[in-house]
Amino acid sequence: MTPNSTKPKEFKDDFWKAKDIKFSFGEIIEDNSPASEDKETFVGPTLKPSATDLRSWDMKLLERYPPFYAPFCDMCCLCTYGKCDLTGKKGACGIDIEAQQGRFALLTCCIGAAAHSAHSRHLLEYLIHKVGPDHPVDFGNNIDIEAPIIRTLIGKAPKTLGDIREAMSYMEEENLHLLSACHTGQEGNHLDFESKAFHAGLMDHIGMEIGDISQIAALNLPKGEPDTSLIELGIGSIDRDKPVILCIGHNVAPGSGIVDYLEDNDLEDDVEICGICCAAIDITRYSNRAKVVGPISKQLKFLRSGVADVVVVDEQCIRSDVLEEAQKTGTALIATTDKMCLGLPDRTNDEVDSILADILNKRIEGALILDPEKVGEVATKLSLSLSKSRKSIKTLPDMDEIQEEASKCTQCEWCVRVCPNNLPIMDAVSSAGKGDLDAVESLYNNDICYTCGRCEQECPEDIKIMDLMSKVGENNLKSQKFNIRAGRGPIQDVEVRRVGAPIVLGDIPGVIAFVGCTNYPNGGEEVAKMAEEFLKRNYIVVTSGCGAMSIGEYKDEEGKTLYEKYSGDFDARGLVNLGSCVSNSHISGVAIKIANIFAKKPLEGNFEVIADYILNRVGACGVAWGPYSQKAAAIAAGVNRWGIPVVLGPHGSKYRRLYLGRPDKEDVWNLNDMRTGKVIKGEPAPEHLLFAAENREEATVAIAKNCLRPTDTNKGRQIKLNHYIDLNKKYFGVIPEDVYKYIRTDKDIPITYKNDVKEILERNNWEPRELVMEPSILDFPEEE
Ligand code: SF4
Ligand code: SF4
Ligand code: SF4
Repeated sequence: MTPNSTKPKEFKDDFWKAKDIKFSFGEIIEDNSPASEDKETFVGPTLKPSATDLRSWDMKLLERYPPFYAPFCDMCCLCTYGKCDLTGKKGACGIDIEAQQGRFALLTCCIGAAAHSAHSRHLLEYLIHKVGPDHPVDFGNNIDIEAPIIRTLIGKAPKTLGDIREAMSYMEEENLHLLSACHTGQEGNHLDFESKAFHAGLMDHIGMEIGDISQIAALNLPKGEPDTSLIELGIGSIDRDKPVILCIGHNVAPGSGIVDYLEDNDLEDDVEICGICCAAIDITRYSNRAKVVGPISKQLKFLRSGVADVVVVDEQCIRSDVLEEAQKTGTALIATTDKMCLGLPDRTNDEVDSILADILNKRIEGALILDPEKVGEVATKLSLSLSKSRKSIKTLPDMDEIQEEASKCTQCEWCVRVCPNNLPIMDAVSSAGKGDLDAVESLYNNDICYTCGRCEQECPEDIKIMDLMSKVGENNLKSQKFNIRAGRGPIQDVEVRRVGAPIVLGDIPGVIAFVGCTNYPNGGEEVAKMAEEFLKRNYIVVTSGCGAMSIGEYKDEEGKTLYEKYSGDFDARGLVNLGSCVSNSHISGVAIKIANIFAKKPLEGNFEVIADYILNRVGACGVAWGPYSQKAAAIAAGVNRWGIPVVLGPHGSKYRRLYLGRPDKEDVWNLNDMRTGKVIKGEPAPEHLLFAAENREEATVAIAKNCLRPTDTNKGRQIKLNHYIDLNKKYFGVIPEDVYKYIRTDKDIPITYKNDVKEILERNNWEPRELVMEPSILDFPEEE
């Protein structure tokens, strides 16, 4: 059918009154899926978009938020025409330093997107094998839009697991094209590299959505219920008198195989199953008897504690030396995916008894087993066999050995130099050598040191600094008990209906998403404190993965975690744990749902309209406070392309590329008012798309500011500015001078700060300006 547009509509409720809304559609196609026979679906112009299909949107974003590069290294070593020095020069292939930075950004995002999508492909095929391709993707009556990203990009909703394969194939093809653009002699323009990096981020989001909806559907994980169980968290919650199986990584398949085996054999009370990182989160979504040990960044600490009888690794973010570390404590190791085989023999097709005999008799160092059900049986039987004998193994040195070891310290300071956080580890070690363990204890207990082990690697005296830490920390292991609300998965449609208007109009001042890895500059407490700051101020806080764990590892004076103090509702003062890394797809997912459910924007093939809506109306901000892996870089690029800004911590800036807005360039912020057809003077809202803060205080203020949106009503703008000013005063003692840029009329001035703000307005020759009705950075539609 030919492109068409609907008649003007009227939309009216308690919060919002609008007339003459006009929707444009590229074409109308028939949805032949069995569940929607006879139903026609409107489809916009960007169905299964390639990178170039969305290039015009990217260029609009990049015009507002140009990439800021700060290369650490000016050399390119990617082919043997080089190495090429790009300092003010071009490489042998003609590339310059700017394009090289863009290429690096694309490559990083491609790696991240590939990790998520390969994980999702593995999971999808495993689950189809387990429950069949016709298994329904149906999350119940409270969720009609099970896959908002797939619907927007592919143009239809998957009704079964088998249907998801179409989205998977599309994404794999796109990822291939993107990676190929990194080859020598392909793309040469830095903005085009950035546009492709955005596309890789978008593919990452579809990959994450595939992973999470597949596992929710097939393994019956929570389907968006806000009140999931509180799960035990922390190494102190593990019952060490029982055999312990520790899963590390991101893929739930082996963990679910272990849970199934324990249940089928009535062993749930006899064996502890726990995990580190997203494997832990997803196993606890599958069984609330499982426990979360903690975030991935502390895996060396957990491994050296010797708590696990068996370690099961799957994929992503696992230490490459995990086998060596496991052997130090007599722990058996099973690798379970093609991504991480660790040199182990493939025993997938062997009898369980023969695998057990070979591991227990140390004929092999561990086993690669690619069948999750067999992993369940082998891991359980190994843990039962090893548990008793391992009790007599001394996993850590005695205290006097520790002190003797520490006394070898020559105060050469190499450990401090290599520490990513520049911690006073030399002082701590040398004091320990004199019998004073307070400094080591403080670094360990407060998670200031995240036990990356770089200091130990560098120490010329070969002091086992991690053993020292683990031994000193051993005394407090029992107190390391916290909780975390189990990951709930997507946000329900009914919640979106409730909060869509308050978010878009500004009554709920923002949605803040704390995601990413946890090697924080000053321990996990900073993330929890930021989360609490915004919860108290009526923001919605969402989290996932290791960030969700860090929030749970913080207790107030009454000994309560934030999960005990705040509900899991997606509403003001709600603390929502979405789930694992792949559940991050529900962050962009809920923003898409606001555009669709609240504003009735059609999704199918309509990426630019949806992203434009989110950028200008949904006051959301992502926060990645730790350093970030390639996966996190891809997530951020995807979030950015959907129109959501991200604030990074100091480590995040090491990717050497930010997207910074220029508030001083007024024209850049002009908006097209789709209601009136006029170009309206805008404001830097959101100010930056990718911004790095140096400390918690700066980040907190930047997050509040990046929730401002052009559609805020006067009341909404007052609320948001009140928080922005309040936080600035709290942390920096002043009212921010740039507040005048965000006052459109007198009615925007927060009452509490009226006089002070008026002085700032006068100082800056402020004049009132017109309010935009339907802000957009898209071009006006062409006259018919
Ligand atoms: S890819 Fe280009 S810049 Fe890099 S080493 Fe090869 S020729 Fe030099
Ligand atoms: S383990 Fe890592 S974070 Fe801890 S002191 Fe050593 S280098 Fe620093
Ligand atoms: S590197 Fe080793 S010897 Fe040097 S200061 Fe650190 S702990 Fe002491």
